[in-house]
Amino acid sequence: MSLLFISHPKCSEHDVGNEHPECPERLDAINDRLIASGMEFSVVRQQAIAADRTQLYRAHSPEYVDRVFALSPESGQVQMDPDTQMMPHSLEAALYAAGANIQAVDAVLSGEMSQAFCAVRPPGHHAERDKAMGFCLFNNIAVGAMHALHQYGLKRIAIVDFDVHHGNGTENIFFNDQRVLFCSSYEYPFYPYNVGPGNEHILNLPLPAGTDSEAFQQAIQDRWLDKLDAFAPELIMISAGFDAHFEDDMAHFKLVETDYHWITSQLKALANKHCQGRMVSTLEGGYALSALGRSVIVHLKAMLD
Ligand SMILES: [Zn+2]
Repeated sequence: MSLLFISHPKCSEHDVGNEHPECPERLDAINDRLIASGMEFSVVRQQAIAADRTQLYRAHSPEYVDRVFALSPESGQVQMDPDTQMMPHSLEAALYAAGANIQAVDAVLSGEMSQAFCAVRPPGHHAERDKAMGFCLFNNIAVGAMHALHQYGLKRIAIVDFDVHHGNGTENIFFNDQRVLFCSSYEYPFYPYNVGPGNEHILNLPLPAGTDSEAFQQAIQDRWLDKLDAFAPELIMISAGFDAHFEDDMAHFKLVETDYHWITSQLKALANKHCQGRMVSTLEGGYALSALGRSVIVHLKAMLD
């Protein structure tokens, strides 16, 4: 069994400089560890295909998508939100990042592969229907999920977001769409701060600073696993952010690689039970480069086991 690993060289050309934590070296760290661990022999690499506007319009308003295209600079930078800039290669990178998720969904739902991982940037889960936010231009996982709903007529997709920040963009896009069960665990109070209670298919899981392995796993067990099981998803998608790692000083959780292996294994068991193992995972945060590389490898291993 093997796993589809989708990326694109253009995803490394989005570089806003100024020691921005969301930097091209993140993808290098993942690639280096893929080679060093021998995991490269267990993955099938594909280059991403860019998403087109019609595909983006399903997750974002046409006005917003068209505005991002119009604002894309030929030189210099455009400030999209306090944390989010566009430079000349950013739009292209964002189109490949969103397109990778569509390609991953196609591969998994056509039966070509059981699992896929998108090693892409910029990340997506903070991007709302009408706005860029928190390093994110397009909501990559939402674009992929919308493609699965639209193109394949799926009725139940679970999206699990274990990034240390709340997936506000994904919640915003699917808040009134009961075809998606969205589960987001995150440090709270913390960026992006104004998190609501969710609803019956938006399962927000705020956890305090200092959350460690035991507290994290217990909370996931208590709050999500039975509900995910009862939902019986036809596809499981993962917003895989690794900034809850204790080495990552972006936030204040104390997770380690074994936690990423554990949660991925739990999701894999659900995928095996309900949807022939079908899983699509996409990179969100993770800024401590060594920890990021190691965490992605255990995540991929658990998807493959
Ligand atoms: Zn994050």
